[in-house]
Amino acid sequence: MPESPPLTIVDVGYRSTHYWAVSASRSRLLVDLGWPGTMGLLQANLRRMDVPLEEIRYGLATHYHIDHAGLAQELKLAGVPLLVLDVQVDAIPKMVRWTKPRDNYVDITPHDNIVISFDDSRRLLREIGTEGQIIHTPAHSEDSVSLVLDSGAAFTGDLPPEGLATGPDLARLAADYDRLRALGVTTIYPAHGPVRPLVSQG
Ligand SMILES: [Zn+2]
Repeated sequence: MPESPPLTIVDVGYRSTHYWAVSASRSRLLVDLGWPGTMGLLQANLRRMDVPLEEIRYGLATHYHIDHAGLAQELKLAGVPLLVLDVQVDAIPKMVRWTKPRDNYVDITPHDNIVISFDDSRRLLREIGTEGQIIHTPAHSEDSVSLVLDSGAAFTGDLPPEGLATGPDLARLAADYDRLRALGVTTIYPAHGPVRPLVSQG
């Protein structure tokens, strides 16, 4: 396999939410897409962290809650295609229910998104210089996905830390973490809270 340059990971987030820019040189992917009505803030953070908006090849929301996908449409209008997993399609129109007029949320149009399956994700990521895949991690919500890099980093959105679930949720959460471990994940980049190691079990 050809040597690919190491990916860089930069946080361009705000308001207790991380938005992760994953870059292979100048080919970039933005994981989670801002609060509604905060395009200026996101743009300022991108500039400050030296991530030119025009170099972002795709925006990916780990799931369609407003702190994760609130700027998806405005990013599209600014030239950043929205990458959607097929399991997320139905969740997109439901998000508007959680917004108020004063949020200035711009609704996501359905016809112009890049909709892929999990199986397509590795090929698509490779095209932008990123070795990894996107997997289903539905413990937080049915439309939740994680970006898993071959380097061992995983971007898990609102997947709760292990140990925070009880009852039936515990089994769902354990299944998601089993999947992450099976792919060699060593570091969790959550949407909220500190980056943390994923300790191997067993
Ligand atoms: Zn969240």
